[in-house]
Amino acid sequence: MDSLSGELVGLMGLISKFTEYIATLGIENVQTKRDFSPVTLADFGSQVIVSNWLNINFRGEPLIAEESLKSLPEDNRDNFIEHLIDVLKPFLGELNRQNIMDYLDMNCSFTKEKSYWVLDPLDGTKGFLRGDQYAISLGHVNEGFIDVGILACPRLRLSSFWGMGNRIDKGYTFFAQKRQGAWMQPLDLSEEAIPIHVSECKEPQNAVLLRSYESKHTDLKRTTVFLERMDIKKTIPVDSQVKYGLLACGIGEIILRFPPTDNPDYREKVWDHVGGAIILQEAGGKVTDILGNSFQYDGSSALDKSVGVFASNGYLHKIGLEVLQEVM
Ligand code: AMP
Ligand code: MG
Repeated sequence: MDSLSGELVGLMGLISKFTEYIATLGIENVQTKRDFSPVTLADFGSQVIVSNWLNINFRGEPLIAEESLKSLPEDNRDNFIEHLIDVLKPFLGELNRQNIMDYLDMNCSFTKEKSYWVLDPLDGTKGFLRGDQYAISLGHVNEGFIDVGILACPRLRLSSFWGMGNRIDKGYTFFAQKRQGAWMQPLDLSEEAIPIHVSECKEPQNAVLLRSYESKHTDLKRTTVFLERMDIKKTIPVDSQVKYGLLACGIGEIILRFPPTDNPDYREKVWDHVGGAIILQEAGGKVTDILGNSFQYDGSSALDKSVGVFASNGYLHKIGLEVLQEVM
């Protein structure tokens, strides 16, 4: 592991402690964004911690992130910022109002620069609030390709998948560097990082599909037709990019998301993929949209030229895309 990966793993450990601490404070920390999706102190605090780190280590490089000054809750903005200063103190030390505003203002929705960072400070807020899975996702794009990606999955318990007996596992981080591979490590650093690889399953009937927990994020009818035509018998609902981490370490074979039934023009957001996609690719998997096109990282926050997402262990990609063509 080089020094950048080591630093990123440390950063993710700190943020995970912060977000899990916020989870203990209860539901009153939920604020609703204008589009009625939930956003919490954890989302903003995580973004402030990453922005602070980028400001120290990569000053001047643009950041495309999900939250911004504009997404701060309008009705009690001042209280929210004061609360944020309080809860961040044990993690970042003393900050003032202006520091918080400056860090949130580092976010841009579009950049012309060739080299930039992409952050989802808390991917899967609904899972976070439900007590289920969520991820912190950070990646770096250079000349249109992702070259570094890291995912923190603070609530991922692999013992339930891998039959590790009574071993207590406390969350994992997954990370990858272009052409160097992908690794995973417990967030508390109690074990060394190990290289990871996708499953070798080549038969659709033995494949497992990882799907959104939130049925409103996809088109369930089309998903059902796809499952029937592929003869896939098992699906596991998992929130957020944790799905990319699972697939990358051989748990499950396919991730599929159609544009949702009630919003067919929905286009994927870049922060919902950059951190996780390179981890799956470096672990041997493949990521495209449901038409088979690669995602284009062109400095925009939406993947406007892509429709949905289809990711796999690689072996099942061709057949999956053929079936998707029929389904569409
Ligand atoms: P997942 O758990 O895979 O559904 O991923 C959660 C992420 O997908 C969140 O960051 C959501 O913002 C995003 N997302 C996906 N589809 C939609 C949708 N139709 N409407 C709003 N957000 C969506
Ligand atoms: Mg997200």
